Amino acid sequence: MTQDFSFILDSLKFSNSSVNSFETCSLMFKLSYIDAKEKIENFYSQFGNHVHRTLEMYFDNKLEIFQLANYYAENFGVNITVAPPPFPKDLVSKYFEDGLTFFNDFSWDRDGLEILFREDFINSKIDNIELVVKPDLVVREKETNQVILIDYKTAKIMKGKYIDKKKLEEYKKQMFLYSYIIGKEKGISIDKIKLLFIREKDPLAQIQEVCYTQEDGENTIKEFLETVSKIKAESEWKSKQKIDYFCSEICSVRLSCPLYVSKFGLDISNQFVQE
Ligand code: SF4
Repeated sequence: MTQDFSFILDSLKFSNSSVNSFETCSLMFKLSYIDAKEKIENFYSQFGNHVHRTLEMYFDNKLEIFQLANYYAENFGVNITVAPPPFPKDLVSKYFEDGLTFFNDFSWDRDGLEILFREDFINSKIDNIELVVKPDLVVREKETNQVILIDYKTAKIMKGKYIDKKKLEEYKKQMFLYSYIIGKEKGISIDKIKLLFIREKDPLAQIQEVCYTQEDGENTIKEFLETVSKIKAESEWKSKQKIDYFCSEICSVRLSCPLYVSKFGLDISNQFVQE
């Protein structure tokens, strides 16, 4: 007999990351959002949080622009405590240097921006489904009066010489979802989206500008709600077929996953070996 989780799923606030986690591994979704298993952090999420925090300090007027690189460097070891995966090699020093270069070169003038909201949770309800989004930063550019949604990304967007178009499409969908909800709940129309890839050194790669239309938002929300319907209809909650890099280094509920535990026990130290 399949278990009925509708009492939990009907009251869940769906987010971009929860819906993505279902697409990645339905068991991960169940362990995270239905069973509420304890989560463990990983190097990548801690690095992302550290970069976000450093930028927050600037946009909250708590740091001046010339203090950013110092703050980033001094707090790197304080905020990033989880051991990195064993490969790619020299991951910590590469990430550290990428972030340091970014903050050394950072030149956004906050005086030219009116901060509308920053890291705020925005709740919505569509077709009886609760949703929540948390945009990094929404600003009005004083010179142009344009409203810009800004999102910081710590993954790279370039694959060699070319843009990773698949990844960019995923990020665009996330931004369209946010823009739609901001429009619906705050009555603010997003004119432009800027994805800031902090680990890219080429200025052309570092900022990806994306236009937004209401139609983009409507199409994205439709797809989002279709995935929520799939989640609500799910009964198997299957794990991945075999342990991969994601399972071993990123999945935050791996210690509750039978597939992971049967292979590695309760040891979280980087054990993945490509087979
Ligand atoms: S460890 Fe892998 S298979 Fe298990 S829940 Fe996480 S992502 Fe899914």
